[in-house]
Amino acid sequence: MVPISLEDYVKKHCKRNPDENPAQFKKALKQAVKAKKDGATCANCGQEIWALGSAVAFQGCFSCITGEADSSVDYEIDEVCWS
Ligand SMILES: [Zn+2]
Repeated sequence: MVPISLEDYVKKHCKRNPDENPAQFKKALKQAVKAKKDGATCANCGQEIWALGSAVAFQGCFSCITGEADSSVDYEIDEVCWS
């Protein structure tokens, strides 16, 4: 995963999604980060969740949200990034 700060990702996401409310998205992202810190696991497979994806989709791991195994080029919030 590519680490990105929460602030930077909110900016990036809202630039790409002009309809998104930045304050609301930031709140969702913070909640997902907190959930991951608290040890939340994927509802599907029990793996550690992907905080960034969980903020936009559902609480799950990278593979279950995207259907892909390779997470090397995707972002994750730096404070919960595992690699
Ligand atoms: Zn999963």
